[in-house]
Amino acid sequence: MRNTTKRAYVLVALIAAFFFGLGILIYSFFAHGSTWASSRLNTHVFKNRQLSTAGAVLDRDGTVLVSTDDEIRKWTSDWTLRRSVLHVVGDEQGFISTGVQTLYRPELIGYNPVRGLYRAGSGNTDITLTIDADVNKAAYEALGGGKGTIAAYNYKTGEMLCRVSAPTYDPQNKPSDINTNTSDKYDGVYLDRFLSGTFTPGSTFKVVTAICAIENIPDLFQRKFTCNGRHKIGNDSVKCNGVHGTINFERALNVSCNSAFAELAVELGSEKLTETVRALGFGKSVKVSRAATVRSSFDVKNAAKVDLGWAGIGQYTTLVNPCQMLMLAGAIANDGQAVTPYVVKDSASLFENTLLTNHNIHLSAETAATIKRLLRSNVENYYGDGKFPNLQFCGKTGSAEVIGKRSHAWFFGFSLRENFPVAIVVCLENGGLGYNNAIPAANKVLQAILKAGV
Ligand SMILES: [Zn+2]
Repeated sequence: MRNTTKRAYVLVALIAAFFFGLGILIYSFFAHGSTWASSRLNTHVFKNRQLSTAGAVLDRDGTVLVSTDDEIRKWTSDWTLRRSVLHVVGDEQGFISTGVQTLYRPELIGYNPVRGLYRAGSGNTDITLTIDADVNKAAYEALGGGKGTIAAYNYKTGEMLCRVSAPTYDPQNKPSDINTNTSDKYDGVYLDRFLSGTFTPGSTFKVVTAICAIENIPDLFQRKFTCNGRHKIGNDSVKCNGVHGTINFERALNVSCNSAFAELAVELGSEKLTETVRALGFGKSVKVSRAATVRSSFDVKNAAKVDLGWAGIGQYTTLVNPCQMLMLAGAIANDGQAVTPYVVKDSASLFENTLLTNHNIHLSAETAATIKRLLRSNVENYYGDGKFPNLQFCGKTGSAEVIGKRSHAWFFGFSLRENFPVAIVVCLENGGLGYNNAIPAANKVLQAILKAGV
């Protein structure tokens, strides 16, 4: 009797262990099946380290960017286009981890968790991007051979119209010295700077300080600021780029007066500035068609007063992600509603959770309206509407100082035109002055978008 009971217990334990193991197997299969199937070790899908069977990647108009022909992956014959879309499309080897060819590989190779890879090649899905080939080429050319990133999107729908990152390379003829070249020619070449880069923001960050001031200083627009070329803070000072005399807040933003904004940052204090930075989503990551962006960083907890002044003008230790800046421009343009960008069209049909409204950015409609008016004033009264013909543009430049190197040239902004809801970000790494270099680059891309009629 005792023996029978013992055996029964053992049997029950064995059965339980069996189902437990089966559960793990089923879970792993569904959770990791697509990864196993799309692994480069799977010779049904990969031959000679190339995707031998996979759907094509197309631009928004159906221009083929890369496709498989006779088991060989072939890129578009347009040299500039290949280089310009490399980071969005991604390489076949997966070095560019944020590219569509990596993140949408299960769909491209036709993997299905129930059916698996039933017959390789039979279920391949083509993926259409929201990117316009001509606009993307214009953006690549606007980088002028330098490093950096340019991206534009429809701030109402989230569709990205262009996204380039440099340095880049020709994926059809990958340079043999790409991993061994000791110069900085291929510095971070596998990194999509739009998603994964962070840069000193310089004066573009004055928009954040301005938002904090608008929300916390009731008499801000009655204030007068005095700039004699530098703003003294204790025994230190923050240097300005000019001598602006006595000016109001709007003019201070127009001419990007460091003295005024350093004064405001110190008055606002580290707590309020940090609160605004957080409310605008700078410490958080978003997903742009499955690719997670890197977080921006802002830390003034232990900053001396003068450093708080520098932080208020976008220097000190602050680093921002270009996608974050684009979304901020979009949120301001869209009356406080931030929309997350995406690059894969028909995301819903690819089982995507397309919750596009960005809940990381909290900006009231009232503040958005005020800062929008000021950013319009920058173009109307300072940069000049001639810099952005037919665009009713709003925005802010930046020339972020980098120790020992040329400054980063920045511009970010958006159009007020009802039929042209486009926002743009330009970051030219060590590209000089925002006004001289980033504004013309932005306009080139915007005119290409107008021309393409997207
Ligand atoms: Zn000044």
